[in-house]
Amino acid sequence: MRTLEMEFEQEQLKQMKAIHLKVGILSNIEPRLLQNAYVAYNQANPGYERVGLHIESVDIKVKCEVCTHVTHVKNYRFLCENCGRPTKNIIQGEEMLIHKVEFED
Ligand SMILES: [Zn+2]
Repeated sequence: MRTLEMEFEQEQLKQMKAIHLKVGILSNIEPRLLQNAYVAYNQANPGYERVGLHIESVDIKVKCEVCTHVTHVKNYRFLCENCGRPTKNIIQGEEMLIHKVEFED
C-alpha cells in the first residue's frame, strides 16, 4: 500500500479495485498468509476494503553461468538442462512485486 500511495494520486487510489501480486515460490511468502495479513491490514486501516488482492505464484528459473541457458527449475533441482551443471544463479522465483493494479472505469 505504501508503494501504491507513492505511485498514484489519492484520487486514483479511490478508484482502485484490485491489486495483482506476483510472488516467487522462493520468496518465503505464503500466499494464504499474505491474504490473511491483507484482511488484517484492511481492518486496521480502513479505506481499501473494497480492493481485491490477487496473488500469483511464480516458478523458479535459473540462468547457467557456463552456457547462459535458462532452465525452468522443477522439484528444486538447480541444474542446467542444457549442459547439466549445477547453478544457483536464480533469475526468477525470489521476487514479490506488484504486477498490475486495476481501477474502476
Ligand atoms: Zn549450462
